Amino acid sequence: MNDGFKRRLLPRPRSDYRLYEPYLRSEFRFRCCYCGMHESAANVAGAFEIEHFRPKSLFAHRTTDYDNLYYVCVDCNRCKGAVWPGTEEQALGLEFVDPCKESLVGKHAEVLSTGEVVAKTPAGAYTIGHIRLNRRRLVNQRRLSIEQGLAFGRMCSELEAICDRIRKIAPLLVTNPKAVGELRRVQERLDAALVLTANLWRPLKVPHDEAP
Ligand SMILES: [Zn+2]
Repeated sequence: MNDGFKRRLLPRPRSDYRLYEPYLRSEFRFRCCYCGMHESAANVAGAFEIEHFRPKSLFAHRTTDYDNLYYVCVDCNRCKGAVWPGTEEQALGLEFVDPCKESLVGKHAEVLSTGEVVAKTPAGAYTIGHIRLNRRRLVNQRRLSIEQGLAFGRMCSELEAICDRIRKIAPLLVTNPKAVGELRRVQERLDAALVLTANLWRPLKVPHDEAP
């Protein structure tokens, strides 16, 4: 999932669309523009491809049109394939949400705490359905990301509480030796918070997608 990709680059025209790959990788911030997976999360080489938003089998004249080229993971590319809505579908709002114009999440869809993404508009449903954005790997990744966000919030609250406690204890150290014991307990809480931090940044390991 992404917040929308705005084109920034203007490469000179090429006769082979594959030559745009370095520009597209940068343009799409090294992520799949549909599922949001970053290159660093891919386990194998060749996990990303150039996709024709308007399929080249239907829009041959746009095969090397830079604005029609998107950077995607192979799973999303395989799911989307040469699908494109007909005029009747478009009249019903059934079309792909263009990630270069707007984000899917927000107006067109929302992410549940389970990690599933649910449609709010016909375009959202069309996009989620055809690109299969509720693939098991993606749902697992979103759920883990949500859980990490919650853990991060808990960690911040705990660190704030520890800082407050230290501020209250510090003046006592001068006149009350017992405060040393209290400070030791605060130290233990701080150690626990640091362990939580380490766990928070452990790399996510999720299983590969089933074949689309
Ligand atoms: Zn993808």
